[in-house]
This record gives sequence, C-alpha cells and structure tokens, in this order.
Amino acid sequence: MQQLKTLAAELLQLLFPNLCNACGQPLVKSEQLICLTCRFDLPYTDFHLYADNPVAKQLWGRMTFEHATAMLYFKKGGRVQQLLHGMKYKGKQELGVLLGELLADTILQSNTPWNVDLILPVPLHKKRERLRGYNQSLCIAQGLATGLKCPVYKNVLVKRSATSSQTKKGRFSRYENLKSAFSIVNNAEIKGKHILLVDDVITTGATIETCASALNLAGIATLSIAAIAYTK
Ligand SMILES: [Zn+2]
Repeated sequence: MQQLKTLAAELLQLLFPNLCNACGQPLVKSEQLICLTCRFDLPYTDFHLYADNPVAKQLWGRMTFEHATAMLYFKKGGRVQQLLHGMKYKGKQELGVLLGELLADTILQSNTPWNVDLILPVPLHKKRERLRGYNQSLCIAQGLATGLKCPVYKNVLVKRSATSSQTKKGRFSRYENLKSAFSIVNNAEIKGKHILLVDDVITTGATIETCASALNLAGIATLSIAAIAYTK
C-alpha cells in the first residue's frame, strides 16, 4: 500500500511537477518551494552585515531604530518579484513562512546580535485581509519567530483606515495618507520591549515610518526593522 502511494505521488509529480516559486523550473523531490539554485543564487543584499546599509539610510532621521535590513533586491520582472507575487496573490502562505526563516538566518549572521523581544507584522486593513485570506507579513513573522525563537504578536498593531493605492503618490502625500492609519491595541504588551517590525517590501519606508511613530507613542524601548525585499 505504501509503495503504491509513493508511486502515485511520483506519477503526480511527473505529470504536474511542483515548480520553483522564484524561477518556475520544476523542483526535484528534495526541494521545497524554492529550488536549490535559486536559494544560493537569489539577489541577496547582505544588508545585515553593515549598519549603514541602504534601508537604514533610507530611514535615518525619520525614526529611531537599532537595526534595519531587507534580505533581497527587488527588480521588476525578476525572481524576487515572482516570490513576492506568489506569497501575496497566490495564497502561498508557506512561502512567506519559508522566506521568514531565511530572513532569520541572515539576521542571525549579523555582526551584533539583534536580541529582539517580540515580532510585530505590519498589519493589513481587516477588509483587505479578509479578501486575501491572510496577511503575508504575518507569515513572514511566523518564519522569523521560529528562527529567532521569540514570539509574534499579531493583534497589537492594527491598521485603522483603508488607505488608497500608494503607488502613484509622492513620498509626502503617502505619509499624509498613512498618518494615523495604524494604532496600538494593547500598550502594556509592548511597553519597554525591543520590537522587530516586519514587512514584505520596503520602498519609501512610509509604512514603516507611520508604524514606528505609533509604536514609539506606545512606549517601546527599541525598534528594529526587517523585510524580505528592498526596492529603490
Ligand atoms: Zn528556482
């Protein structure tokens, strides 16, 4: 019976191969979600290795933080876009978790330990989360939590207002648009803590900035920031 099951699984894999979520090539049996070639060969930023990296520079002067990193360079039409697309729009929550685990690995290789107390995902508005069925940043946070061995709090930082599409606005109007969009439900949970704020992509940093001001008002001790991808 077991042999038959294995055979059936192999036949299915032959007819409908699982594809790499980054490059689209068929995965071999031992590979999961991302092929080995892509795992080694994705456009890693190595931002975790230096404090004055482009993400940190982007955020300097706009908030106080300890560490900031993004693991991969985002390029339009590239493999990282494929990964993010799969995670956000194709329901592949497990891909978010895997990317979170890979992100944790890079953070653990930093020159100075991050020592965060807890992880907060950048929230989606309830309506959007209901439509998508999940928040991709929470999936990433869950992968990070496994790697960094610290908890995720998912209902502390919440998004109040549904913001309109961000893509066509300049930095200032984006900030205006986001201002007061985020709030904290239970200050006591995060007061005096070192918070790791997690998002999928960092572009202008406007989302991170507005979350950071809500977190600072709530009395957190330290803020660090991590994302899967960085786009200039
Ligand atoms: Zn691949």
